[in-house]
Amino acid sequence: MKLSESYLFTKIARKVNAYKEEHPRADVISLGIGDVTQPLAPAVIEALHKATDEMAIATTFRGYGPERGYDFLREAIVENDFRSRGIDIEADEVFVSDGAKSDTGNFQELLSADCVVAVTDPVYPVYIDANTMAGREIVKLPCTAENDFVPELPSKHVDVIYLCYPNNPTGTTLTKEQLKVWVDYAIRENALIFYDAAYEAYIQSEDVPHSIYEIPGAKQCAVEFHSYSKTAGFTGIRCGYTIVPKALRLPLNKLWNRRQSTKFNGTSYLAQRAAEAIYTPEGKQQIKATIAYYMENARMMRDALTGMGFKVYGGKDAPYLWTQTPDSMTSWEFFDWMLHSAHVVCTPGVGFGAQGEGYVRLTAFGTHENTEKALRRIDSKL
Ligand SMILES: *Cc1c(COP(=O)(O)O)cnc(C)c1O
Repeated sequence: MKLSESYLFTKIARKVNAYKEEHPRADVISLGIGDVTQPLAPAVIEALHKATDEMAIATTFRGYGPERGYDFLREAIVENDFRSRGIDIEADEVFVSDGAKSDTGNFQELLSADCVVAVTDPVYPVYIDANTMAGREIVKLPCTAENDFVPELPSKHVDVIYLCYPNNPTGTTLTKEQLKVWVDYAIRENALIFYDAAYEAYIQSEDVPHSIYEIPGAKQCAVEFHSYSKTAGFTGIRCGYTIVPKALRLPLNKLWNRRQSTKFNGTSYLAQRAAEAIYTPEGKQQIKATIAYYMENARMMRDALTGMGFKVYGGKDAPYLWTQTPDSMTSWEFFDWMLHSAHVVCTPGVGFGAQGEGYVRLTAFGTHENTEKALRRIDSKL
């Protein structure tokens, strides 16, 4: 087993803490935050209070919930995230979970050990680590400036492809035509696509698909993962869902139900009521405002960094900006320069894969004030 040590965020924290100890008066700002920072929407808080009060009374108290999640949430998902976009997904194809990290990590349990798995490079490390723990062969699909961060089809047959769009860490997207190439490949090769749509709510452009099921044929070959973490600030509440179509050529809908009812006992009633609240008219409008807040940071960062002469990718339909380091610096050399000169923390791109060398990931999850201040500092130190 070739599991690499998970050192990226530990190493960043160690470097930042060492710097702060030596320079106690330095006001260090993080543009590396991978977590949301804005509080939950008022509609969500109201739903949480109401659900909590129900738990105090015997007649409305809830214990174990239905294994795929409560009907009220699965029906809201089907209506708002799919039917409203002309996609026909049924409520028994929706599996509510405690988030997309568990589901993207666990879904591979349904596969045999000899499946060959393809992932992009750079990549969200969960897909690689979960499959490495299961002893599978991994094929890397380079995503670089040369191919516009659009992965090319693998030269040998693969059984599973993990795709994440809008992408973490590059912040880039695929158009419908570019995604169709992968759906066609999966159908032709009898392969499965595991599609991580965690950043779907950040899409601003018209031609970027919100769901892989916008592509004809995808219901035969794709499983799709959603999360309320970035959509609605649920990183601490914990709720997401996975779509497992009944039209898949393998009976994965039944198998996933079997797996979940064996190893998972559901996400809490409170979290599911909280998730339902983001589909109310007030909830929708409130989470949209928070996403707009983050995307305004992204716009500010794109404009400022481009103006300083940086090559910047992403940040248009995602809260991430994939920024090329200046003067051929390595990711870590630029990280050190940013920390020491500008007192700004970023995430070294090489931590997401070999193709991330020479890049850093900047995030739009900070406050406007800190984001502006960090950009001014970088500009003044160049
Ligand atoms: C944040 C994130 C998730 C969501 O994880 P949760 O477990 O739902 O909080 C999933 N995939 C990617 C790529 C992410 O960045």
